[in-house]
Amino acid sequence: MKTFKQIFKEAENKIPGIAAAPGIVIAKAYLFTKERLVISDAAVTDLEEAKNNLREALEKSKKELNKIFSIAKEKMEEDRAAIFEAQMMILDDPILIENIIKRVENEKKQPEFIVDDEISKYQHMMINAHESYMTERAHDIEDIKNRIIRNLQKKRWQSKITNDVIVVSDSLTPADTILFSRSNARGFITDHGGLTSHAAIISRSLNIPAVVGCHHATQIIKEGDKLIVDGFHGYIIVNPTEEQEKFFRGKIERLVNLQKGLEELKEKPAMTEDGREIQLLANVDVSGEIDLVVTSGAKGIGLFRTEQVLEEFGEFPTEDEQTEIYNKMASRIYPNPLIIRAFDIGGDKFKFLDFVEPNPFLGLRGIRLLLENEKLFKTQIRAVLKASKNKNIQFMLPMVSVTSEIRKSKKLVEQCKHELKQEKIKYDKDIKIGIMVEVPSAAVMTSEFAKEVDFLSIGTNDLIQYLMAVDRGNDLVSNLYQEFNPSVIRTLNHIVADGKKQNIPVSLCGEMAADTLAVPLLVGLGLDSLSISPSTILYIKRIIRSMSYAKAKAMADKCLTFSTQEEVIKEIEKFFVDNDITRTRNII
Ligand code: PEP
Ligand code: MG
Repeated sequence: MKTFKQIFKEAENKIPGIAAAPGIVIAKAYLFTKERLVISDAAVTDLEEAKNNLREALEKSKKELNKIFSIAKEKMEEDRAAIFEAQMMILDDPILIENIIKRVENEKKQPEFIVDDEISKYQHMMINAHESYMTERAHDIEDIKNRIIRNLQKKRWQSKITNDVIVVSDSLTPADTILFSRSNARGFITDHGGLTSHAAIISRSLNIPAVVGCHHATQIIKEGDKLIVDGFHGYIIVNPTEEQEKFFRGKIERLVNLQKGLEELKEKPAMTEDGREIQLLANVDVSGEIDLVVTSGAKGIGLFRTEQVLEEFGEFPTEDEQTEIYNKMASRIYPNPLIIRAFDIGGDKFKFLDFVEPNPFLGLRGIRLLLENEKLFKTQIRAVLKASKNKNIQFMLPMVSVTSEIRKSKKLVEQCKHELKQEKIKYDKDIKIGIMVEVPSAAVMTSEFAKEVDFLSIGTNDLIQYLMAVDRGNDLVSNLYQEFNPSVIRTLNHIVADGKKQNIPVSLCGEMAADTLAVPLLVGLGLDSLSISPSTILYIKRIIRSMSYAKAKAMADKCLTFSTQEEVIKEIEKFFVDNDITRTRNII
């Protein structure tokens, strides 16, 4: 059989990108473009016809939205589908609609012009309300505005639900990704974005192969082209030859076999041959994922990114709403632990501020923003405490860079505990508080920070970004985003060793933990647990079960002496070969 290199090396129909979510899929392309609408302000010649057109367009938009809403409700938990409710509310607002009709009558301008003007006013009002969630809602409203205008112009519905296609787009928002994944998209391809962009993370957690950062994919690929997405290696093949397709069909077959063996590992511990057990926990980004987590064999949830709840809700849930979400999640995973991370707002995530920060990743993000907005933070802390009564919740702080942030946060937790006690509400008075180690200053200060908290979790996605000074979502510098760079692994070693000296557990919840190549190195460095997307747990478990901790430690020690990423990678690859360990990438 010919190798991949022989068949594809010089292939002209191969587009390279970044392997963002594993898996191989062969399907037709669906080009998702957000067309810029041109709005006419011409005078209306037939007023009745214009008004009829308007009514029809509103009716059609409502039908379309109802369809999306019902799919969302079916696929997500009902309260999560609320992101579409804001749009429905607009369509059902009699004052707004009446106003639009009146203006068409009085001004005799095209309804599309009036719709644009009126709904834009609404949007500006929301943005000027200076409330974070309003800004997000303004985006939702953009969507409904465009939908009505498109229907007035009798244009095709761009975001129509398409089954069994590979979505090709210049970029995808988390909401696009969720919506397409819920309508049976088989794969994702984007021109922009990096491995840790949130669209990539969501694809991974929903088990949909994705290749991102392909630069010109949207220009090369045509609607309906047959595509092969190789989410393991980060390639797309456009209109494959017979030989190419046969090659990939063979891979898919092998993948199915590989997965068969995995099921048997579900109930078994992630224990090395020489008896060191690693806790494998799950990262949860979308609340709907909880079913996947429960069936994945995870020993708990190591990272619940609560800011995703904001994406889904489109606003800040109340204390009661949050309590319900955390309660539900904690009881589904009980008696295993649920680590709830405080809202990590800012950076490339949920936008809270209505001004643009020059360097959002270095700005008011994570714990910094929460401490500036105590009321918001306390609402979340109270909800977490209320949901903690069964003692399986832990609370984690993102983006900590100085000691005072930990102390101030703990003080707020104590305040909230005191309040709840007064209110005679039950909570876990010994709730564990931990921090993410994802900023270089926290890594340097591990010993001191570890004295203040109950556990540490290393966030390599950000730690690498800040250590290497590489924007995690920028594909132009992705070659410098090196998880095996000696500076990264030495930093990891330092964090683990210093955390251990203070006798607290050290986990790693960045995407690096889900990279099969990294696993022996991370185990060898002494990590107690890894938190990864549920779909990768069994692959990682298989690797851990077929290796020796002592040998992995020796290999990690050797890697700590190297000066280039290439040497580190070569050494780990050698470890796999010498110890005859199956790695997904060797086979697929
Ligand atoms: C990280 O930074 O590694 C991490 C797990 O958090 P997030 O990806 O949500 O920033
Ligand atoms: Mg982070």
